[in-house]
Amino acid sequence: MYKKKLAILGSTGSIGTQTLRVAEEHGDMFEVRVLTANNNVELLIEQARKFNPDAVVIANEDKYEQLRDALADTDVKVYAGSSALCDVVTMPSVDIVVSALVGFAGLLPTIEAIKANKKIALANKETLVVAGELITQLAIDNHVPILPVDSEHSAIFQCLVGEGDNAVDKILLTASGGPFRKMSKDELKGVVAAQALKHPTWSMGSKITIDSATLMNKGFEMIEAKWLFGVEPDKIEVVVHPQSIIHSAVQFADGAVKAQMGVPDMRMPIQYALTYPDRKPLSGERMDLFRLSVLTFEKPDTDRFPCLALAYEAAHRKGNMACIMNAANEVANLAFRRDEISYPILCDVIAETMQKVQYVALPSLDVYLQTDKEARRYAASLIH
Ligand code: NAD
Ligand code: MG
Repeated sequence: MYKKKLAILGSTGSIGTQTLRVAEEHGDMFEVRVLTANNNVELLIEQARKFNPDAVVIANEDKYEQLRDALADTDVKVYAGSSALCDVVTMPSVDIVVSALVGFAGLLPTIEAIKANKKIALANKETLVVAGELITQLAIDNHVPILPVDSEHSAIFQCLVGEGDNAVDKILLTASGGPFRKMSKDELKGVVAAQALKHPTWSMGSKITIDSATLMNKGFEMIEAKWLFGVEPDKIEVVVHPQSIIHSAVQFADGAVKAQMGVPDMRMPIQYALTYPDRKPLSGERMDLFRLSVLTFEKPDTDRFPCLALAYEAAHRKGNMACIMNAANEVANLAFRRDEISYPILCDVIAETMQKVQYVALPSLDVYLQTDKEARRYAASLIH
């Protein structure tokens, strides 16, 4: 059997490690050819010894020597720096690039991978938030599929399998509501990162966990859905569903609604992106409706969670607005994690940056790169 050859960007993270578990469970289907990390050199070394890839990259150049020395007795090629990420994704031995690094850093390697005609399994939603128009056009031009890893988008994708040209009437994008779901506006003034880092249903990296608590993650996912499925924001409805069993749903012209369900386990959407159009066995817990007994649904409250409204605003304004929002969010999210700002200030920093940074209606890649820098600088100036 032909083995699909994987490059996993961000292999030491939450999605990266779960991707490796899938690859390990299906050693007859996958070969790991590239692994990359930002800082966690110890885990990267351990992974390289176990999976024996062609190449590894550590984005933080200060860690290069430690990595090189630790793998000196192997054939693994060792590189450092963010430009190396853009090189390894183009290696001829790679079929699928799993983009599982976090933030804006995912943009350029994904662009290079698409240009090199690699299939993309996309976890890094920031790439589509920042430059969805550019990325989707590039993928069309290069006949490259972008397979969603995000659980909601995998659910929508699964609902659309077999529907051909049948138009989507509406997407129902589910959200757990996060750890602050029941808090009043007053209570939200005093929340700290440590409270948010206890997500009720999913265990994820720290940045996305904070984005989930502020509902910015759901705003990002609305934009991600717009680009992946060509559906306008007005037709994407966010539904708070605290049990995280329905991973999202699609309503069609005749009123029929298809939903994809299952226990919250990211290995499922990861594996589907890697094996599509096939389904393969996967170990793990199975959904038990009798044990669940109730599934509940609520409307999101954009008064308490203004980041969701900001994302709809960015999607409507188009151009580089979502890029501005993403950069401000990366800065504010990190400051909140460091306990430098409160939750209301986090939201205000993003809103104000969106008002002040230069809007460009038809951005090129250079404009996105420039916008990201400028928006980060402006957002930081509001904090420090
Ligand atoms: P994480 O923080 O656990 O892991 C991030 C990985 O990226 C690590 O391997 C890290 O070394 C690497 N990385 C971070 N910054 C980098 C940089 N500047 N340059 C190069 N590498 C860098 O994050 P995660 O939770 O695995 O999320 C990864 C992406 O997947 C994010 O875009 C997130 O929104 C998305 N996502 C995650 C989940 C989840 O369940 N964790 C679900 C859906 C989507
Ligand atoms: Mg998601």
